[in-house]
Amino acid sequence: MISNESAAIHILNSLESYGFEAFIVGGAVRDKLLKRKPNDIDICTKASIKQIQSIFPSSIHVGSNHGTLIVKIKGCTLEVSTYRARNGEKPTIYSDLSLRDFTINAMAIDIRGNIIDPYDGQLAIKRKVIEVVQSGQRFIEDPIRLLRAIRIAKQLNFSIENKTSALLTDSAHLIKEVAAERITAEFQKIVTAVLNKKEVCELVSGDVVQNIPFMFPEKKVIESLKRYPYEFIVKHHVEWWMLASFSYDSNETVHILSELKLSKKVVKDITFISKLVIEVISTSWSDYHLYLLGRERLIFAEKLLSLIQMRENKSSILLDKYDSLPIHDNKELAITGQELLEWFPQERGKWIGDRLKKVEEAVVLNKVANEKKAIFNSLKREIIK
Ligand code: ATP
Ligand code: MG
Repeated sequence: MISNESAAIHILNSLESYGFEAFIVGGAVRDKLLKRKPNDIDICTKASIKQIQSIFPSSIHVGSNHGTLIVKIKGCTLEVSTYRARNGEKPTIYSDLSLRDFTINAMAIDIRGNIIDPYDGQLAIKRKVIEVVQSGQRFIEDPIRLLRAIRIAKQLNFSIENKTSALLTDSAHLIKEVAAERITAEFQKIVTAVLNKKEVCELVSGDVVQNIPFMFPEKKVIESLKRYPYEFIVKHHVEWWMLASFSYDSNETVHILSELKLSKKVVKDITFISKLVIEVISTSWSDYHLYLLGRERLIFAEKLLSLIQMRENKSSILLDKYDSLPIHDNKELAITGQELLEWFPQERGKWIGDRLKKVEEAVVLNKVANEKKAIFNSLKREIIK
């Protein structure tokens, strides 16, 4: 596999060799000027989609975006778009840049390093400001830009320029119109930006995020955040929205996560972890509880506990306790359902499973030894009911 940058250079060279003007555009140019590693490299060209396809025959269309192709070069995937323009306008690199969101994202660079910067994006980078490309209706045109402005400002440690900031406040309510998938994608980037706890609190209490209808109900997330082992979550790549939706009511968590259109698996994992956290914080666990949770989940819980209690994760109180339990699986029980039937003859039925569960609990809690005779006696004397 080659680097994204080498792949981009290869694509620019190929397009130019066929006589098509081509540039790296958007975030990658901004990141190059900031000496940051770009998240992805986008290319823009005069070539039409058909022409791009004939130069890169294995390229594929991107979802609903008809002006963009995904081109694969030796394991790297890059997006290559044909110039966009407003209705009736001639598509050029300038028309394309005019449609972009912020001045720092509206620059292009060619293979020789010439920068096209019609909106003084380089100056904005020097001043460390986010400002919209041409004021006016920019947030109304596409309200995801509200969240992008906040996200990019936080990510780069830039401020939002005054006029843009006023526009943003006026338009905050428009975030309600944005599809959940797009909001989720932005939050995904916020997670990887590894903001600290204070920054996350600021972000979630801002107008834009507070206007997202299914998120942060009653601002209680901010309170939750203070209790939450945030650093742990980020370090372990548990998705950020787990934090966002953290609630003491797991039904509500599931609802919010589903609204965010996350996969069933992610919803399940997050709900589980969030329940576990609640338990870690609020209960002391019985041995039976440890048994039900199992070793893998306890390793996770142990880490959470050490964070909440602000101690080094050296001792493993829960795991030691778990390891010393008499059994770790119901298969290890000294008796079977068949034996229960022989000892207490009656019709087969649900009672067998119920009784086995009781035996299992009693054995785990050391109320009875895991031996046939001891279990039989306890059942006979109704110590286990
Ligand atoms: P990242 O570092 O997260 O990749 P980015 O600015 O590159 O940030 P992308 O989603 O990769 O974000 O978008 C690439 C470029 O496309 C942007 O830099 C910007 O020029 C343009 N762009 C993306 N989203 C919008 C939008 N909603 N409105 C206008 N232009 C946009
Ligand atoms: Mg990008």
